[in-house]
Amino acid sequence: MIEKACSTCHLIASGNICPRCKTTTLSDDFTGLVIVFNPKSSAIAKVMKIQRKGRYALKVR
Ligand SMILES: [Zn+2]
Repeated sequence: MIEKACSTCHLIASGNICPRCKTTTLSDDFTGLVIVFNPKSSAIAKVMKIQRKGRYALKVR
């Protein structure tokens, strides 16, 4: 299945709807992959305002 990144929250999902914000504005044109295991202790999670663990795209076009 093709993975897509949500253009709103940058979460990477394998469907057509973002499981986090329930939007369909997903794009398969994204660069960079950030895996957040512990949002509370991750500097990248803080910068990207990520509050849940998961996989995120750095840039979504
Ligand atoms: Zn989203």
